[in-house]
Amino acid sequence: MQDAAAGGSPEERLRAVGLRITAPRVAALTFLDEHPHATADDVAEGLRAGLGAVATQTVYDVLRACSERGLLRRIEPAGSAVRYEVRVGDNHHHLVCRQCAAVVDVDCSVGAAPCLTPSDDHGFVIDEAEVTFWGVCPECQAAQADPNRRTVGDGGGTVEAPAGAITPRAG
Ligand SMILES: [Zn+2]
Ligand SMILES: [Zn+2]
Ligand SMILES: [Zn+2]
Repeated sequence: MQDAAAGGSPEERLRAVGLRITAPRVAALTFLDEHPHATADDVAEGLRAGLGAVATQTVYDVLRACSERGLLRRIEPAGSAVRYEVRVGDNHHHLVCRQCAAVVDVDCSVGAAPCLTPSDDHGFVIDEAEVTFWGVCPECQAAQADPNRRTVGDGGGTVEAPAGAITPRAG
């Protein structure tokens, strides 16, 4: 099931999980292929750009059906709307920026779920550890380090700090 849900064209993925192929479903998967971690609003906007008028309820129905069949993964970082992505069938985690809410995929360093063991499982059969790494993304770090960076205008044009220039302070 994981392989069927994770690969191929949108049509192939829909067929593999027994969902009827409809224009909104194909368009939603296509949009999410290109825009990982999009919200339902983002998807609705993307569908309307491609298909014209699409009812909001249709968008929610598509996202629900595809999530239920394992074609989409839902993540819901605290304080954020639910986001959807087509990267399913692996145990990847997310980095979330506290300031701009950017979400970035990161491979699990262990691989299979659950990748963490509780100090006491209290008799539960554990199948997943939901890991979200919270922090500040490089862009927000750069903006913080030099709030006046954007106003540099002294003849030489705007100079962007290289992305790797800011290193976290060693503890
Ligand atoms: Zn950020
Ligand atoms: Zn992801
Ligand atoms: Zn992990």
